[in-house]
Amino acid sequence: MDEKKSFFTRLKEGLSKSRDNFVNNVIDVFDTYDYLTDEFYEELEEMFVMGDVGVKATTQIIDRLKADVDSQHLKTPMQCKAYLIKNIKEQMQVTKSDYEFLSEPSVVMVIGVNGVGKTTTIGKLASIYRAKGKKVLICAADTFRAAATEQLEEWAKRAQVDIVKATEGSDPSSVLFDAVNAAKARGVDVLLVDTAGRLHNKKNLMEELKKMHRIVEKNYGSVKQEYLIVLDATTGQNALVQAREFAGAVPLSGIILTKMDGTAKGGIAIAIQSELNVPVKFIGVGEKIEDLQEFDPDTFVDALFDFKKEGAMEDLSKVEALHFED
Ligand code: GDP
Repeated sequence: MDEKKSFFTRLKEGLSKSRDNFVNNVIDVFDTYDYLTDEFYEELEEMFVMGDVGVKATTQIIDRLKADVDSQHLKTPMQCKAYLIKNIKEQMQVTKSDYEFLSEPSVVMVIGVNGVGKTTTIGKLASIYRAKGKKVLICAADTFRAAATEQLEEWAKRAQVDIVKATEGSDPSSVLFDAVNAAKARGVDVLLVDTAGRLHNKKNLMEELKKMHRIVEKNYGSVKQEYLIVLDATTGQNALVQAREFAGAVPLSGIILTKMDGTAKGGIAIAIQSELNVPVKFIGVGEKIEDLQEFDPDTFVDALFDFKKEGAMEDLSKVEALHFED
């Protein structure tokens, strides 16, 4: 419980720039208008889009708000503030998160461009699995970057799990092939695969990933396949572009948003699910093992809006009470 609390505190602190950049602007709109005019909605929409929430998610959230205004006969921005929060949370829960890969025999392919935090995330995931008593094998298939393997070995040592590395000159697919055989022979619960973030060129990389996907399908079809893309939250909309490119090569099943600490673009977490139709499954708020946690939209929105300060939760409970009394 303590850990959850401290994660929430760290998340809240980490999102302070997003609060300055986005949430406070939204709150200003509520404070500026006395009535629910077209200008109010337009300005609200503008603040969301500028806050990296993206056009699609923004439109969905505002449309739902307008529907609530009608059905609940709301008259002022203050009355509909709590509904907006509710809609943001609901909007992020469109796709039900699926964490079966944490409990069932799985191969977890971790993909993404260099520098987003892939290696660190694999280390953290290895620890999460270990804490659940699972037998883990790491596959270091980023053969293009020697330092990646060294880094992974360090994480593997820390998490006390085995690792399969490339022999000199081998390509990522052959390392994966070896690792799959080792995983089967050793009866591991999860094979965690680091993939290259960069090869000689982008086409090359995508072709290699497709090949890796085929290897898994053909040789390890009996276990659950999870394709997690790691995206750096500080890159905002660019993260969406990356995800779309990788989605062309492998069947993405989840998103890990790293570096939520200190980004001014935290709104991307709201955008990403509706833009990609893939759920955010984990968020990272720092470099330490305990800094990766399963994503929970309610906790995220509470941290983003810093409810204790704004008293917005209080607003929400009042609205719900009114609603129930009706
Ligand atoms: P890779 O190239 O994708 O494998 O990225 P690395 O795992 O090497 O990470 C790149 C840098 O980002 C390292 O300095 C990590 O410590 C850092 N990093 C990873 N995740 C987080 C995070 O959630 N928050 C912060 N602040 N830094 C992170």
